[in-house]
Amino acid sequence: MIDHTHDITLKSWVTSANGHPDFPIQNLPLGIFRTGDTPRPGVAIGDMILDLTAAKALFDVVPQGETLNAFMALGSAPRRALRLRLVEVLRDGSPHRALAEACLHKASDCTLHLPFHIGDYTDFYVGIHHAQNVGALFRPDNPLLPNYKHVPIGYHGRASSVQASGADVHRPHGQTKAPDGDTPIFGPSKRLDYELELGVWIGPGNEMGAPVGIDNAADQVAGFCLLNDWSARDVQAWEYQPLGPFLAKNFASTVSPWVITPEALAPFRVAQTQRVEGDPHPMPYLWSDSDQATGALNLELGVSILTAQMRAQGLPPHRLARSNSRHMYWTVAQMIAHHTVGGCNLRPGDLLGTGTLSGPDAGMHGSLLEMTNGGKSAIELPSGETRTFLQDGDEVTLRARGVTDGFAPIGFGECRGTIRG
Ligand code: CA
Repeated sequence: MIDHTHDITLKSWVTSANGHPDFPIQNLPLGIFRTGDTPRPGVAIGDMILDLTAAKALFDVVPQGETLNAFMALGSAPRRALRLRLVEVLRDGSPHRALAEACLHKASDCTLHLPFHIGDYTDFYVGIHHAQNVGALFRPDNPLLPNYKHVPIGYHGRASSVQASGADVHRPHGQTKAPDGDTPIFGPSKRLDYELELGVWIGPGNEMGAPVGIDNAADQVAGFCLLNDWSARDVQAWEYQPLGPFLAKNFASTVSPWVITPEALAPFRVAQTQRVEGDPHPMPYLWSDSDQATGALNLELGVSILTAQMRAQGLPPHRLARSNSRHMYWTVAQMIAHHTVGGCNLRPGDLLGTGTLSGPDAGMHGSLLEMTNGGKSAIELPSGETRTFLQDGDEVTLRARGVTDGFAPIGFGECRGTIRG
């Protein structure tokens, strides 16, 4: 999987790419952008976007249309070929510079769209520290339910309200009931929260009744994004039994719009964290030696907040937590194998969320629910404000970066949303 496209010494004639925190030439994420007219496919390179439609004479196959669904349905071969050719076109000294340079736009002049038409969205719960922390709030003696270490837990989410980074999030209204209240009330959520997750974009998909074997699951992955699974905790607490989240989660989810390909992430592949002594061995359909050896990702994750008051005072965003994608109890391949084992078909552009990826310690919590111990202990912000849950005007930004010795660091770009009343 590692080749010359990952060479740390590779430089681009797009000078802003060299040393860029997110989009050096070693990353080359695909997305859908617009400069005022029709949305179309592009590649992020430094502070610029290469218009693949305008530059198509340089490539054998490029994505076409207003989404990446059709291109990613073709699987890994054209995606890998495009990456190899992009490096030829964008590397320092390329003979194709003049042609390609005419097809660049400043990213700051462009609007980014959802990269896929999302048919279905499924949210898993594989962040074991989040599951333990949230479980402990409700069941101090028995935080993890007995199924957790046997089944990659998930639920089917809502695709229609997934939006690209930058879009506002409207505070949902709904039914809530205070623990000591006799009857529920209707009104705006008072316990609005974020969830720090990775998203997985599905490429080819599978036919109904034809499960994806775990050793073929990686071929289904078109790429990765950040995912904020905004959650109304007070609505959730009242509605979730017996069938799980509904209006607490379906009002909005935000994704980072650049698709970070499996090829770009190859240097950040690591072994899955070993299960602790006494944990059950996964069933055969969930077990693959090669997946265990290389199926986890080592990505630094972060979440920050910028309140309206902080913005007015000229303060920078405040880091709330740092975590890592290694805190997944199940791998992405295990999620896909499980999702399809009963015969369910995945389709190109389907979105899978990992679930909140908290770490084991303070400062690593991927939600305010965990950080504030269920809303009991407020967080202090540099502006002197405090928070238990999100207020109107609060902007939340998720970040992910791959950093490892011998390779150029890459990032996912922003996953940002602002709460509006
Ligand atoms: Ca979630």
